[in-house]
Amino acid sequence: LWITFEGGDGAGKTTQAELLREWFEQLGRTVVRTREPGGTEVGRTIREIVLHHRGGLGARAEALLFAADRAHHIDTIVAPALARGEVVIQDRYLDSSVAYQGAARDLGAGEVRELSLWATGGALPDVTVLMDLDPGAARQRLDADDKPFDRMEAEKAEFHARVRDGFLELARAEPDRFLVVDASLPATDIAGRIREELERRGR
Ligand code: C5P
Ligand code: MG
Repeated sequence: LWITFEGGDGAGKTTQAELLREWFEQLGRTVVRTREPGGTEVGRTIREIVLHHRGGLGARAEALLFAADRAHHIDTIVAPALARGEVVIQDRYLDSSVAYQGAARDLGAGEVRELSLWATGGALPDVTVLMDLDPGAARQRLDADDKPFDRMEAEKAEFHARVRDGFLELARAEPDRFLVVDASLPATDIAGRIREELERRGR
Protein backbone atom coordinates (compact mmCIF):
# COMPACT_ATOMS: atom_id res chain seq x y z
CA LEU A 1 0.00 0.00 0.00
CA TRP A 2 1.47 3.30 -1.13
CA ILE A 3 0.06 6.60 0.13
CA THR A 4 1.36 10.04 -0.81
CA PHE A 5 0.60 13.41 0.77
CA GLU A 6 0.43 16.45 -1.47
CA GLY A 7 -0.35 20.13 -1.05
CA GLY A 8 1.30 23.52 -0.76
CA ASP A 9 3.97 24.52 1.72
CA GLY A 10 2.57 24.84 5.25
CA ALA A 11 -0.52 22.68 4.59
CA GLY A 12 0.33 20.12 7.27
CA LYS A 13 1.39 17.13 5.14
CA THR A 14 4.13 15.96 7.49
CA THR A 15 1.88 16.08 10.57
CA GLN A 16 -0.76 13.96 8.85
CA ALA A 17 1.77 11.53 7.41
CA GLU A 18 3.10 10.94 10.94
CA LEU A 19 -0.41 10.43 12.40
CA LEU A 20 -1.20 7.96 9.64
CA ARG A 21 2.03 6.10 10.30
CA GLU A 22 1.04 5.69 13.96
CA TRP A 23 -2.36 4.34 12.94
CA PHE A 24 -0.93 1.72 10.58
CA GLU A 25 1.66 0.68 13.16
CA GLN A 26 -1.09 0.21 15.73
CA LEU A 27 -2.76 -2.05 13.18
CA GLY A 28 0.46 -4.07 13.12
CA ARG A 29 1.71 -2.95 9.70
CA THR A 30 5.31 -2.13 8.92
CA VAL A 31 5.53 1.43 7.63
CA VAL A 32 8.22 3.17 5.63
CA ARG A 33 7.99 6.95 6.05
CA THR A 34 9.77 8.84 3.33
CA ARG A 35 9.73 12.05 1.34
CA GLU A 36 10.64 13.84 -1.86
CA PRO A 37 12.84 15.62 -2.45
CA GLY A 38 15.47 14.14 -0.14
CA GLY A 39 14.39 10.62 0.84
CA THR A 40 17.85 9.22 0.01
CA GLU A 41 21.45 10.39 0.37
CA VAL A 42 21.56 11.30 -3.32
CA GLY A 43 18.20 13.00 -2.87
CA ARG A 44 19.47 15.12 0.00
CA THR A 45 22.22 16.45 -2.24
CA ILE A 46 19.71 17.18 -4.99
CA ARG A 47 17.39 18.83 -2.45
CA GLU A 48 20.19 21.13 -1.34
CA ILE A 49 20.85 22.19 -4.95
CA VAL A 50 17.23 22.71 -5.91
CA LEU A 51 16.08 24.51 -2.78
CA HIS A 52 19.10 26.64 -2.01
CA HIS A 53 20.85 27.32 -5.30
CA ARG A 54 21.20 31.09 -5.66
CA GLY A 55 22.37 31.54 -9.24
CA GLY A 56 19.18 31.10 -11.27
CA LEU A 57 18.69 27.39 -11.83
CA GLY A 58 16.06 27.54 -14.58
CA ALA A 59 12.71 25.78 -14.62
CA ARG A 60 13.80 22.85 -16.81
CA ALA A 61 16.90 22.09 -14.75
CA GLU A 62 14.73 22.26 -11.63
CA ALA A 63 12.19 19.82 -13.09
CA LEU A 64 14.92 17.40 -14.18
CA LEU A 65 16.58 17.46 -10.77
CA PHE A 66 13.28 16.66 -9.05
CA ALA A 67 12.73 13.88 -11.59
CA ALA A 68 16.22 12.46 -10.97
CA ASP A 69 15.59 12.44 -7.23
CA ARG A 70 12.28 10.70 -7.85
CA ALA A 71 13.74 8.00 -10.09
CA HIS A 72 16.43 7.14 -7.55
CA HIS A 73 14.00 7.28 -4.64
CA ILE A 74 11.52 4.90 -6.28
CA ASP A 75 14.24 2.39 -7.14
CA THR A 76 15.99 2.37 -3.80
CA ILE A 77 13.25 3.02 -1.21
CA VAL A 78 9.67 2.80 -2.49
CA ALA A 79 9.68 -0.19 -4.85
CA PRO A 80 11.65 -2.45 -2.47
CA ALA A 81 9.33 -1.59 0.46
CA LEU A 82 6.22 -2.27 -1.63
CA ALA A 83 7.74 -5.56 -2.78
CA ARG A 84 8.16 -6.54 0.89
CA GLY A 85 4.44 -5.83 1.41
CA GLU A 86 5.04 -2.79 3.60
CA VAL A 87 3.05 0.44 3.76
CA VAL A 88 4.84 3.42 2.22
CA ILE A 89 3.74 6.83 3.50
CA GLN A 90 5.41 9.57 1.54
CA ASP A 91 5.50 13.39 1.61
CA ARG A 92 5.18 14.60 -2.01
CA TYR A 93 5.49 12.75 -5.30
CA LEU A 94 4.98 13.54 -8.97
CA ASP A 95 1.85 15.60 -8.36
CA SER A 96 4.09 18.17 -6.64
CA SER A 97 6.13 18.45 -9.82
CA VAL A 98 3.02 18.81 -11.96
CA ALA A 99 1.74 21.57 -9.65
CA TYR A 100 5.04 23.41 -8.98
CA GLN A 101 7.09 22.94 -12.15
CA GLY A 102 4.18 22.27 -14.52
CA ALA A 103 1.43 24.66 -13.42
CA ALA A 104 3.24 27.30 -11.35
CA ARG A 105 6.49 27.49 -13.37
CA ASP A 106 4.65 27.13 -16.66
CA LEU A 107 6.45 24.09 -18.08
CA GLY A 108 3.07 22.51 -18.78
CA ALA A 109 1.29 19.98 -16.58
CA GLY A 110 1.18 17.27 -19.26
CA GLU A 111 4.88 17.42 -20.10
CA VAL A 112 6.02 17.42 -16.49
CA ARG A 113 3.76 14.47 -15.74
CA GLU A 114 5.24 12.56 -18.70
CA LEU A 115 8.76 13.35 -17.51
CA SER A 116 7.97 12.01 -14.03
CA LEU A 117 6.29 8.90 -15.33
CA TRP A 118 9.29 8.24 -17.55
CA ALA A 119 11.60 8.72 -14.56
CA THR A 120 9.71 6.25 -12.40
CA GLY A 121 8.54 3.68 -14.92
CA GLY A 122 4.94 4.84 -14.54
CA ALA A 123 4.58 4.16 -10.82
CA LEU A 124 1.50 5.77 -9.23
CA PRO A 125 0.41 5.66 -5.57
CA ASP A 126 -2.72 3.81 -4.45
CA VAL A 127 -3.99 6.87 -2.61
CA THR A 128 -2.95 10.52 -2.72
CA VAL A 129 -4.16 12.78 0.07
CA LEU A 130 -4.32 16.40 -1.07
CA MET A 131 -4.09 18.79 1.86
CA ASP A 132 -5.90 21.76 0.40
CA LEU A 133 -5.28 25.13 2.04
CA ASP A 134 -5.72 28.74 1.02
CA PRO A 135 -2.19 30.12 0.34
CA GLY A 136 -2.80 33.07 2.70
CA ALA A 137 -3.44 30.73 5.62
CA ALA A 138 -0.46 28.60 4.61
CA ARG A 139 1.74 31.70 4.59
CA GLN A 140 0.66 32.57 8.14
CA ARG A 141 1.69 29.09 9.28
CA LEU A 142 5.09 29.38 7.58
CA ASP A 143 5.62 32.84 9.09
CA ALA A 144 4.82 31.53 12.56
CA ASP A 145 7.63 29.01 12.16
CA ASP A 146 11.03 30.72 12.35
CA LYS A 147 12.78 28.54 9.77
CA PRO A 148 14.20 30.53 6.81
CA PHE A 149 12.21 30.14 3.59
CA ASP A 150 13.54 27.94 0.81
CA ARG A 151 13.46 29.10 -2.82
CA MET A 152 9.90 27.89 -3.44
CA GLU A 153 8.49 29.08 -0.13
CA ALA A 154 9.90 32.54 -0.91
CA GLU A 155 7.86 32.76 -4.14
CA LYS A 156 5.04 35.31 -4.27
CA ALA A 157 1.38 34.67 -3.45
CA GLU A 158 0.43 34.33 -7.10
CA PHE A 159 2.84 31.41 -7.54
CA HIS A 160 1.29 29.60 -4.58
CA ALA A 161 -2.21 30.24 -5.92
CA ARG A 162 -1.17 28.53 -9.18
CA VAL A 163 0.26 25.61 -7.21
CA ARG A 164 -3.03 25.21 -5.37
CA ASP A 165 -5.09 25.32 -8.57
CA GLY A 166 -2.69 22.85 -10.17
CA PHE A 167 -3.23 20.36 -7.36
CA LEU A 168 -7.03 20.77 -7.41
CA GLU A 169 -7.08 20.16 -11.14
CA LEU A 170 -5.11 16.94 -10.68
CA ALA A 171 -7.54 15.80 -8.00
CA ARG A 172 -10.50 16.45 -10.29
CA ALA A 173 -8.87 14.45 -13.08
CA GLU A 174 -8.19 11.40 -10.89
CA PRO A 175 -10.94 11.21 -8.24
CA ASP A 176 -10.25 7.52 -7.53
CA ARG A 177 -6.65 8.14 -6.51
CA PHE A 178 -7.13 11.49 -4.75
CA LEU A 179 -8.66 12.28 -1.41
CA VAL A 180 -8.99 16.05 -0.96
CA VAL A 181 -9.11 17.26 2.63
CA ASP A 182 -9.73 20.73 4.04
CA ALA A 183 -6.36 21.43 5.65
CA SER A 184 -7.75 24.32 7.74
CA LEU A 185 -9.49 21.82 10.05
CA PRO A 186 -7.89 20.66 13.32
CA ALA A 187 -5.24 17.97 12.76
CA THR A 188 -7.15 15.29 14.68
CA ASP A 189 -10.29 15.84 12.56
CA ILE A 190 -8.24 15.54 9.39
CA ALA A 191 -6.58 12.35 10.63
CA GLY A 192 -10.01 10.86 11.40
CA ARG A 193 -11.31 11.75 7.98
CA ILE A 194 -8.30 10.14 6.26
CA ARG A 195 -8.68 6.92 8.27
CA GLU A 196 -12.42 6.71 7.53
CA GLU A 197 -11.82 7.21 3.85
CA LEU A 198 -9.05 4.58 3.73
CA GLU A 199 -11.37 2.10 5.47
CA ARG A 200 -14.19 2.97 3.10
CA ARG A 201 -11.88 2.32 0.15
CA GLY A 202 -10.91 -1.02 1.68
CA ARG A 203 -7.28 -0.08 2.44
O1 C5P B 1 7.69 19.57 1.28
P1 C5P B 1 9.08 20.04 1.39
O2 C5P B 1 9.24 21.22 2.29
O3 C5P B 1 10.04 18.93 1.72
O4 C5P B 1 9.48 20.50 -0.08
C1 C5P B 1 10.63 21.23 -0.31
C2 C5P B 1 10.38 22.40 -1.22
O5 C5P B 1 10.41 21.99 -2.58
C3 C5P B 1 9.08 23.11 -1.00
O6 C5P B 1 9.30 24.48 -0.96
C4 C5P B 1 8.26 22.71 -2.19
O7 C5P B 1 7.41 23.72 -2.49
C5 C5P B 1 9.29 22.47 -3.27
N1 C5P B 1 8.97 21.45 -4.27
C6 C5P B 1 8.80 21.80 -5.59
N2 C5P B 1 8.56 20.83 -6.52
C7 C5P B 1 8.48 19.55 -6.18
C8 C5P B 1 8.62 19.17 -4.83
C9 C5P B 1 8.87 20.16 -3.89
O8 C5P B 1 8.90 22.98 -5.92
N3 C5P B 1 8.26 18.64 -7.11
MG1 MG C 1 8.65 22.81 3.12
